Amino acid sequence: MFFENIDFSSLELPPAALKLRDEVRAFLRQEIAAGSFVPHLGHAEFDSAFTKKVAARGWIGLTWPKQYGGQERSYLERFVMTEEMLAVAAPCAAHWFGDRQTGPSLLRYGSDYLKDKYLPAITRGEMAFALGMSEPGSGSDLASVRTRAEPVDGGWRVTGQKVWTSWAHKADAFFVLCRTAPLTEDRHAGLSQLIVEIKNSSGVTVRPIRFMNGNHHFNEVFLDNVFVPDDHVVGEVGQGWKQITSELALERSGPERFMTTFPLLVELVRRLAKSDDARAQEMVGRLTARLWTLRRMSLAIALALDPSSGKQGSVDLATEAALVKDMGTFYEREIIDAARVLVTVEPTMDAADTFERYLAECIVSAPVSTIRGGTTQVLRTLIARRLLGSLK
Ligand SMILES: Cc1cc2nc3c(=O)[nH]c(=O)nc-3n(C[C@H](O)[C@H](O)[C@H](O)COP(=O)(O)OP(=O)(O)OC[C@H]3O[C@@H](n4cnc5c(N)ncnc54)[C@H](O)[C@@H]3O)c2cc1C
Repeated sequence: MFFENIDFSSLELPPAALKLRDEVRAFLRQEIAAGSFVPHLGHAEFDSAFTKKVAARGWIGLTWPKQYGGQERSYLERFVMTEEMLAVAAPCAAHWFGDRQTGPSLLRYGSDYLKDKYLPAITRGEMAFALGMSEPGSGSDLASVRTRAEPVDGGWRVTGQKVWTSWAHKADAFFVLCRTAPLTEDRHAGLSQLIVEIKNSSGVTVRPIRFMNGNHHFNEVFLDNVFVPDDHVVGEVGQGWKQITSELALERSGPERFMTTFPLLVELVRRLAKSDDARAQEMVGRLTARLWTLRRMSLAIALALDPSSGKQGSVDLATEAALVKDMGTFYEREIIDAARVLVTVEPTMDAADTFERYLAECIVSAPVSTIRGGTTQVLRTLIARRLLGSLK
């Protein structure tokens, strides 16, 4: 049966999550009032100073063991915090990859050495990670990556090219998926994950790829005979595929996948507050109901991922997460469509009016959400396979 691993019964957030929500809201109100950041929609900005402030409150690695700088709090608390950050488009990129993917991967597969070296630095907001998976010709089909690592005395020499690497120009290190053994019939065998310290390694070149609005978010990264010591291999050599696919539920199921245009919805409702247009009321009503449904689905996955569920690591939530991401990213676009249909404006990126600026930023960045973290077609194939399998 589909969705057998997660529970949709009604859910009251526990007092700890409600308390944290108030704290995060107060912090963000204060930051916005102080002008510490200007919200921009489309993708989270990279702001090390903001990340350090979040870290000082203990909000990075919230669910991780205290031994590594975490707080051992629940996934629901982490969910609530992420949701609040997204609601005001806070600039979280300097810690989100580490908090959401790198840290949990290290906790699951990393050696004690790697955990000690990186996890506390991530929770202190001192170390930012990027993700080196995609390559020219290898995005959806990650098993075809051609970056290779050759064994040498004391480690590996890595050569290849990564592409679309978000924030590689600012990150300290990145996880590199590469081939450590030649390609065989079993395409998933022979892949490994290594940590390359971008700023401290010779042979790494980072080149910008700019968005059409000129923004620098992602890059090409060239690796030319880069030395990576043995102790920077994550998990087991040759098990990279299994490791990377287990991260996907983390990457695809969170509010990041349906809330990136949420501030536009808020501004749209403000604009329409005095309108008695029945069509506007119906569209906003539908969008609000859909948001609530997506949130409930996403929360259900967060609950199943929580160690207290007893399910962590034992169930595969990749399909459920794919469904949240697919429905979520189309939902984000529907907010943009509703704003365009219901309000007649010519949005510009430098508009003084927040609604107009948000709308312009959303229109320009709209194509990315259904590509990053897995394309629509690939996600739907995954969902269909599971669904058809379960109908047999
Ligand atoms: C904003 C943004 C940030 C990103 N950040 C990162 C990052 O930090 N690190 C990183 O490694 N990557 C990153 N990516 C890359 C992203 O993961 C890839 O773009 C994505 O996985 C798609 O791969 P591709 O671009 O090679 O397209 P392709 O895989 O070549 O796909 C091209 C088209 O073919 C379709 N297609 C491919 N295979 C199939 C199939 N089997 N069946 C049906 N249709 C298929 C796809 O759906 C798509 O429409 C980012 C992308 C974006 C947009």
